[in-house]
Amino acid sequence: MSIRKLKAAIRDVPDFPKPGILFKDITTILKDPVLFRAAIDLFAKRHKDKGIKKVAVIDARGFLFGSALAYKLKAGLVPIRKKGKLPYRTFEESYDLEYGSATLAVHEDAFEPGEPVLLIDDLLATGGTAQASARLIERAGGKVVEIDFLIELGFLKGREKLTAYSVFAPIVF
Ligand code: AMP
Repeated sequence: MSIRKLKAAIRDVPDFPKPGILFKDITTILKDPVLFRAAIDLFAKRHKDKGIKKVAVIDARGFLFGSALAYKLKAGLVPIRKKGKLPYRTFEESYDLEYGSATLAVHEDAFEPGEPVLLIDDLLATGGTAQASARLIERAGGKVVEIDFLIELGFLKGREKLTAYSVFAPIVF
């Protein structure tokens, strides 16, 4: 299965969730058994036997890829969620959006000190979400080994916010 086939399957939805945004819809990959497996295997091969102890997944589409990946890597799974969703004590990080701001949270006891963590989301846009998530992992004691996305919107230069980290994104628009 080639990356080209995965890329071709991503559906562009104009003006969602608001005018001017071209939304990259990955449900077209999720619903296809061959493509979904291929997407997970892409990351699983990359990190197999590399000592990843936890996969941290970003609310909400990061959950879809990251949980299958954690299972495959025999790693634990840690959700990074929008503020107010996690039940126990949390660390929180706020970051700027195009309009206003957002806050993400992680449980304080999600990681063992210094343990290797892989951070996963579906798509890298401006990088604010991933940057805040990486900070949360660090505040909770984890070590960010890499930040992986299925898709990168290169023209938004999100990597510039993530220069402190190794970043991998096989599909670039
Ligand atoms: P950012 O913080 O700008 O990098 O935004 C990344 C987050 O927003 C990810 O969780 C993506 O799922 C979502 N996102 C941003 N832009 C798009 C887009 N054009 N298509 C699909 N998802 C997007």
